[in-house]
Amino acid sequence: MVAVTALVTPVTCLWPDCLRAIDVASVGRVAAKRILIVGAGHVGLYAALRLSKKLHLHEAEVTVVDPQPHMTYQPFLPESAAGNISPRHTVVPLRRELKRCHVLSGTVTSIEHARKVAIVQPIIGPAREVPYDHIVVAPGSVSRTLPIPGLREQAVGFKTIGEAIFLRNSVLDRLDVAATTSDPATRRRALTFVFVGGGYAGIEALAEMEDMVRGALRYYPEIPADEVHFVLVEAANRILPEVGAEMGAYTVVQLTKRNIDIRLGTRLESCVDGVVELSDGDRFEADTIVWTAGVKPHPMLEDTDLPRNSRGAITCKPTLQVVNPDSTVVEGAWSAGDCAAVPDLTAEDPAALCSPSAQHAVRQASRLADNIAAVVRGRTPVDYKHRHVGSVAGLGLYKGAARVYGVKVRGVPAWFMHRTYHLSRIPTLNRKIRVLVDWTLQLVLRREVVALGSLHEPREAFTEVTQPIPLPVRAGAGTERRAA
Ligand SMILES: Cc1cc2nc3c(=O)[nH]c(=O)nc-3n(C[C@H](O)[C@H](O)[C@H](O)COP(=O)(O)OP(=O)(O)OC[C@H]3O[C@@H](n4cnc5c(N)ncnc54)[C@H](O)[C@@H]3O)c2cc1C
Repeated sequence: MVAVTALVTPVTCLWPDCLRAIDVASVGRVAAKRILIVGAGHVGLYAALRLSKKLHLHEAEVTVVDPQPHMTYQPFLPESAAGNISPRHTVVPLRRELKRCHVLSGTVTSIEHARKVAIVQPIIGPAREVPYDHIVVAPGSVSRTLPIPGLREQAVGFKTIGEAIFLRNSVLDRLDVAATTSDPATRRRALTFVFVGGGYAGIEALAEMEDMVRGALRYYPEIPADEVHFVLVEAANRILPEVGAEMGAYTVVQLTKRNIDIRLGTRLESCVDGVVELSDGDRFEADTIVWTAGVKPHPMLEDTDLPRNSRGAITCKPTLQVVNPDSTVVEGAWSAGDCAAVPDLTAEDPAALCSPSAQHAVRQASRLADNIAAVVRGRTPVDYKHRHVGSVAGLGLYKGAARVYGVKVRGVPAWFMHRTYHLSRIPTLNRKIRVLVDWTLQLVLRREVVALGSLHEPREAFTEVTQPIPLPVRAGAGTERRAA
């Protein structure tokens, strides 16, 4: 022990972190902390990147679990669906960026924090237990749906890159259907696009798709523009609460000028077989129904022993440590982003929580990573405090609405702010360059308006030309059957 102290003391003065390394290596008592990150989205990816920069390998080993091989930059989904950005450039490949972390491709199905283990279901094969010292729970949110007849069968959500690609292909495919059919009812149904929910996800998706369709119509002389029917259904009496009442009202006026049918104070009641029934009594048919009416914390959280609030979100302290109802900290458990209830220390109301937004998620991720590093090194974590600076919404090419630090911006400047803000936020220089190149090409060459619908049924063409043959009978199969 004396020898170890003598060896360690001179290093302490030069680099305190090295002291711990030599101490650990020599005495062999303190092992690297195992940090498990559940979900590699806005919170998970940023936290993993920062932790792997802040902590040395001997201090912590970081494991990230996600069923997807990439992080999706969700604010770019509308532009991706519209064809302004390649879908591949809207996602960040995990293995390429998280070289200093272990990446597990699988789903965390449950967490037993009392034993500090998470159950991970890999893509194929049996589930496995992954033990940890610290866990960062960040599976985000899922679409909040309602029990509406036909919704499950007819509608599509708008939270994943798969949904964005599907929506793009299916909208463009409907133009081909409408241009070729001789049946007016089929044509009307194909050209009716319904979006339910007027938050930024819904409004941006609707505005970008309408912009794309209007651009595509130059190649469809058979379809007059006034036959295309975009409908927004919103239960509240305003849209885009994120940019404030005035900019929300401005957006309604702008979208109405583009012939978009805005139904405020209206609910979707049914959409069985694509027959849309609204609470204002209207009834019409639509092939495309997009559900963007809010999110709720990921249901996986129900299979954990972590404390949650009435909405199902994990309760957190401002330090992003999970907290019990009696205000005691759940040691080693951390959360942030859409699945977490994090107090908003900038609000006057002491019960106010941070909104589910990328703006909070990425900043919470940095604070969370710094706090884990602090705790690993025996220091005190610091509170997360960020005043929401406002929001920017892209409404199609050269169109936008924003309210930033209370300043209202509209039209081209807002659109420009939307693009520059998100370009600065998408992780990695690699992605920023790719997105910038996509935008430049699209401005010069016009966007692609071709449907790749066969992406969704890739084996169809091959199976059509392949003879079905009876499967060979396995040796012994008959015997087994006879024995049974
Ligand atoms: C279309 C759209 C536009 C948006 N635009 C904006 C905007 O302009 N500005 C803004 O501030 N916010 C915007 N948002 C909201 C923002 O994207 C979210 O608030 C943010 O993504 C939340 O980050 P997160 O890390 O909590 O969740 P996510 O980024 O959703 O990440 C969750 C991750 O967890 C993974 N996961 C899920 N379940 C499991 C499991 N069981 N095991 C392991 N991994 C799991 C998922 O695959 C995913 O990678 C938008 C959202 C959408 C859908």
